[in-house]
Amino acid sequence: MATFKAPKGTYDLIPPVSVKYLAVREAISAPLRNSGYGYIETPGFEDVGLFARGVGESTDIVSKEMYAFETKGGDQLALRPEGTASVLRAALEASLHKQGNLPVKLWYSGSYYRYERPQKGRYRHFSQVGAEAIGAEDPALDAELIILADQAYRSLGLRNFRILLNSLGDKECRPVYREALQSFLRGLDLDEETVRRAEINPLRVLDDKRPDVQKQLVGAPVLRDYLCDACKAYHEEVRALITAAGVAFEDDEKLVRGLDYYTRTTFEFVHDGLGSQSAVGGGGRYDGLSEMIGGPALPSVGWALGVDRTVLALEAEGIELDIPASTSVFAVALGEEARRVLFGKVTELRKAGVAADFSFGGKGLKGAMKDANRSGARFAVVAGERDLAEGVVQLKDMESGDQTAVPVGELIDTVRARLA
Ligand code: AMP
Repeated sequence: MATFKAPKGTYDLIPPVSVKYLAVREAISAPLRNSGYGYIETPGFEDVGLFARGVGESTDIVSKEMYAFETKGGDQLALRPEGTASVLRAALEASLHKQGNLPVKLWYSGSYYRYERPQKGRYRHFSQVGAEAIGAEDPALDAELIILADQAYRSLGLRNFRILLNSLGDKECRPVYREALQSFLRGLDLDEETVRRAEINPLRVLDDKRPDVQKQLVGAPVLRDYLCDACKAYHEEVRALITAAGVAFEDDEKLVRGLDYYTRTTFEFVHDGLGSQSAVGGGGRYDGLSEMIGGPALPSVGWALGVDRTVLALEAEGIELDIPASTSVFAVALGEEARRVLFGKVTELRKAGVAADFSFGGKGLKGAMKDANRSGARFAVVAGERDLAEGVVQLKDMESGDQTAVPVGELIDTVRARLA
């Protein structure tokens, strides 16, 4: 028989490691939930046009990496490669921007798909937690998001990350810069692929890691010199607010990010223990995206943090999250009568809010106690026929090893008292 494996570029989250992923999602979303962001969930696939918008700068990377397909009904769909466009689409569709105060603040958590060349930290299926603040142009909003991401990483214990910050200008000054950069690039000796990229997405050429390209880029026009006064003032305010919050960052004029819809504030969180796939999260302002997808002008800002790479970052820093054992009580029944009684007690414990598990499969004492150990439970409840004849069960403290007989009818209260 054929055996199946997880598809190339994907992996499964399995216990005990999977609990870290839950903890990371929880830690990243906690500051958002605490700051007025509402939860949103959108489909895993969308109309392909939502992501591939014409032959713009975005198609350069997005199209090539997208899982696009035609359905039996003839619809052109794509597995979502990112969250921002979907969230904005959903907000527009539900007219959230018309229902009250702007900005509309939303957070999400889910799976994303990119047909990339897999390597450590780069997968074809990965997960992100993201946040979008839609419909307000306010440097405090950009600052809020950066501060919340910083807080999220710090709450996990991460320290070896840096925040890179840049401004990409707006629809006034960015095109002027783009033009200047393009004419500079046209004078260089570049390969065909890079020449093509220079025409579609010249800012991305600045990102080229190859030394021979980097050498030629010395003296290239820098965006900072082209920012209009409004963009400059906006950026200074974002910088001042983050600084006042005690969040350290580095100005990185080369930070351009992949997607074409970014304007003004752009940032990336990089972790220094991850090798080439060092970006653990990123985001920025996307004032033009709403109009690009047929909506009204809705200046917005957001970020997405990669859950997979955040877990890798935790490992790189040797951080063990303090995750309590999921089971508090483990019941070990010896004999049929004890099985019935203890199974009933486990159900009662669970109803009382105590995490409890049971030794299934009719194991003997030794095997069952091994399971109790492995579960990480604080208490084992052991009972055989003799105990039941006396109307008691044995409550064993797995930390101290102490064991006491407890009347069957008092088990739930006793356990709850001792756990409290
Ligand atoms: P991006 O929109 O490309 O900046 O993605 C935001 C974050 O998602 C990145 O900083 C990564 O942490 C994560 N990410 C993006 N692509 C991948 C991938 N192929 N595999 C794993 N994580 C990814």
